[in-house]
Amino acid sequence: MRVGGVAAFVGLGSNLGQPERQVRQALLELDGLADSRLTGHSPLYGSSPVGPPGQPDYVNAVARLETSLDAHALLDALQAVELSHGRVRGERWGARTLDLDLLLYGDRQIDTPDLKVPHPQLHLRAFVLVPLHDLAPDLELPGLGPLVDQLPRRPGRDLWRLPESADG
Ligand code: ATP
Ligand code: CA
Ligand code: CA
Repeated sequence: MRVGGVAAFVGLGSNLGQPERQVRQALLELDGLADSRLTGHSPLYGSSPVGPPGQPDYVNAVARLETSLDAHALLDALQAVELSHGRVRGERWGARTLDLDLLLYGDRQIDTPDLKVPHPQLHLRAFVLVPLHDLAPDLELPGLGPLVDQLPRRPGRDLWRLPESADG
């Protein structure tokens, strides 16, 4: 495996099937991506759904990868993992077996039709900011400044830490 240089952060989310299992399995699969290595992940969180009403709660986490894939190739690889988990594209922000968002790619800012980095909603979502902060408390968000400045001021009821599972 050839790995080099760039630290990328990936947001994981699932609210269909067995969400916790999907997320834990996806972490293993991220470690297996070509030219990439998993270098850490946050604890798992539960969160209340945003978007269409009536969806189950989510399980969320953030992973850090070291990768020599370029950002678009990494997005392609993430979408292949989503598909392998039976992801079906339905309505915007609708329920899904697995969602993998490319949150950050080094200090790069990317604005293309199919890839925007930092992820455009990153700074608005406690279920991304809080686990990202667990993993990388000193992070600077390109174009946005210190991550700590974006954190929610007080914990909300729409995000909760899941218990560690026995198998880690
Ligand atoms: P959101 O992006 O608001 O979290 P979502 O995850 O439900 O919503 P998807 O249906 O998974 O949205 O993705 C729609 C498209 O977003 C993808 O096909 C992809 O091309 C594009 N996209 C743009 N920037 C990113 C990014 N940073 N990470 C993942 N997908 C992105
Ligand atoms: Ca998403
Ligand atoms: Ca997505």
